[in-house]
This record gives sequence, C-alpha cells and structure tokens, in this order.
Amino acid sequence: MEQGDPPLEIERYENQLPVVGETGQEKLADSSAAVVGLGGLGSPAATYLAAAGVGQLVIIDGDSVDKSNLNRQILYRPEDVGAKKADVAKARLSSFNPSIEVSAIGERVTKGEVQLPETDLIVGAVDNFETRHLLNEIAVARGIPYVHGAVEGLNGVLTVVLPGQTPCLNCILPRNVDRKVAGHTTGGVTGVIGGLMANEGIKFLSQAGDVAAGYLLTCDLGHLEFDRIHLERNPNCEVCGNLF
Ligand SMILES: [Zn+2]
Repeated sequence: MEQGDPPLEIERYENQLPVVGETGQEKLADSSAAVVGLGGLGSPAATYLAAAGVGQLVIIDGDSVDKSNLNRQILYRPEDVGAKKADVAKARLSSFNPSIEVSAIGERVTKGEVQLPETDLIVGAVDNFETRHLLNEIAVARGIPYVHGAVEGLNGVLTVVLPGQTPCLNCILPRNVDRKVAGHTTGGVTGVIGGLMANEGIKFLSQAGDVAAGYLLTCDLGHLEFDRIHLERNPNCEVCGNLF
C-alpha cells in the first residue's frame, strides 16, 4: 500500500487473510484487473475479484441485458433487462464493495476500437475466439497474465497465460482455425469456471498458490471429471515466439 491509502478493512477480509496474508491483501488492494465480458463467466469472475478487494477493476462489455441471460449472469436482475451490462455491473459491484474502484467501458473490445486500459492482469470472459485472441495478444505484448476460461454445455476449460513462461492461446489454438461456439450452458457451469478464473486472478495478484500455468484444466461437469492437459508452446508462434 502507499502512504495516504485508507487502511485495509480487516473485518471485511478477515476470512481470507489467513489464506492470502496481510501482504497479499495489500497487494490485492494495490492491484488492477480487467474483466472483459460481463456474461456468464464475467459475472462471477468480476464479483469474486471485487469481493476479494482487488483495488481497481476495469469491466468491459458492449451488450445490454437480455432476459435469456438471467439463468446464469448473476450480476443482473429482471428489472435490468434492456440496460447496458457495463453500467449495471458497475453499480452492482461498486455497492457490493465500496472500497474498490470500478470503471466500466460499455463497448466491445474490437481491434482498434477500445483501448484496453493498462492493468496488472486480463481476465478473458468472452464467448468468441476473435476477442480471446485479441486479449491474448494484448496480454503478451504487455507481459501481463491472461486468464482464459470457456464453457460449452456441461464442460469448461481454464488456463493462465504467463507471457514468456508458458504457451499463449495462439500456441494451443491457432487463430486461423475456424471455431464456432454455441455457448449453451447452465449457470452452475459458468459459476464454477468463472469462480476459478477469479481465483486464479486472486492467487496471482496476492502471490498465494500456483496458477494454472502451462496446462489446460478441463472440467467435465457432466461426469465430474477434472483433468490437466500439458500445453506445449509453438516455437514459431507469431504472437509469443519472440519471447523465448
Ligand atoms: Zn504463443
């Protein structure tokens, strides 16, 4: 923490202080994270990052709330239908934890349109590969972690890209391969994966535990089977190949 910062709210965080430590809690307060996508994954991811006391959250989504979002996008209520997700989420997260700073961008992150503010970490909670790859490229260029999560049906995956240390998203899923995702799922699945994404961010920022680096965690929630797939970097990767 810096001189002049308000003291930590010890009572609010007393349940996690034995886990992250007081130093870790101070690191969280001094940290910033961008959560891109405020849907099924972004709702729990942003909520738990806010709950943990990450000092600055940048939340980004260009969509408005639709009634069909409500089975899984827990930031929103029926009365929010039609409102911009970024605005509703900012209000909800700010009232949930008034000691953090939340800034909202109500636009899609498309190349050249939204300048992603500098943060310590990017959480990619989006539903399309184009944006995932764009976020991966930004994270690699900035040398900051990229937390990648995705769901489909009763399945989910998670990995953390640490530029220069692990394979990047483009190493494992080259962007020139066309992939379509329907994204149909339940709120339980997005809750599990979104919660894991937040926890990876919390672990990295507070330096508690080891993040999911260098492997893909696969979660078959239909059969409750979890596995790790070791990831190999592509030495010719056009995104991260020059870092090794
Ligand atoms: Zn790569």
